[in-house]
Amino acid sequence: MAVARPVLVSGNWKMHANHFEALKLVQELAALFRAGGVPEGREVSLHPPFTSLRTVQTAVESDHVPVALGAQNCHYEERGAFTGEVSADMLAKLNVAYVIAGHSERRTLFGESDAVVRRKVDAIVGHGMCPIVCVGESLEQRRAGQAADHVRRQVLDALSGRAPETIGRLVLAYEPIWAIGTGETASAEDAEEMCALIREEVGKLAGPEASQSVRIQYGGSVTPESAGALLSAENVDGLLVGGASLDAERFAAIVRAGA
Ligand code: PEP
Repeated sequence: MAVARPVLVSGNWKMHANHFEALKLVQELAALFRAGGVPEGREVSLHPPFTSLRTVQTAVESDHVPVALGAQNCHYEERGAFTGEVSADMLAKLNVAYVIAGHSERRTLFGESDAVVRRKVDAIVGHGMCPIVCVGESLEQRRAGQAADHVRRQVLDALSGRAPETIGRLVLAYEPIWAIGTGETASAEDAEEMCALIREEVGKLAGPEASQSVRIQYGGSVTPESAGALLSAENVDGLLVGGASLDAERFAAIVRAGA
């Protein structure tokens, strides 16, 4: 049975937007969404840096902006001597709904292993939030014909052993490393091929219902020009947007692309 999967367009602000800039950006988005709305069947999440979360939360809640609050990362422990870290519990208390886990910048620049990503997913789910679990191959892996095996293994490492109902509620993001922040977007065909492969892997792991309801985003240099074709691909259920999410007009255009 086919399941309608709401499209999720997420703006990953990375280490941009102090709380003054964050307030300006969210107010600009609020005005655009008030004027043009968020298309039916689409959801939006905003992922500011930790220091701007409270500001964005207050603006979103007081102005009823139709976006969910997201975070870019969290620690897997509940609390303790982990200087500089933020726990899933702290995010949940701010009404964060989505937390990115295993972004390739965390994996490559901060040495996050698959085991660490898995523990983060545990913490995020344990606090009632939805992880956006990022997977994706490097250019070398793609050139060596290892992209599919690598992505399959990342999916398995993050999801194996979980209840099918839990898996069915997650969001995965296929983000080829060679496309992130490079201006080189994967074609809609390439994105579809890898997102379909991820869905197939989820099916093997958790059964047909979970594979039909799990949402799979594409991320990597998405622009207003590329978003429509990507979103029209059968197995692409949303977009994880970095650079273009820092410009309210461009991000709103991506949210509406092809709708
Ligand atoms: C990202 O941050 O996940 C991302 C895909 O960035 P960009 O859109 O800038 O490539």
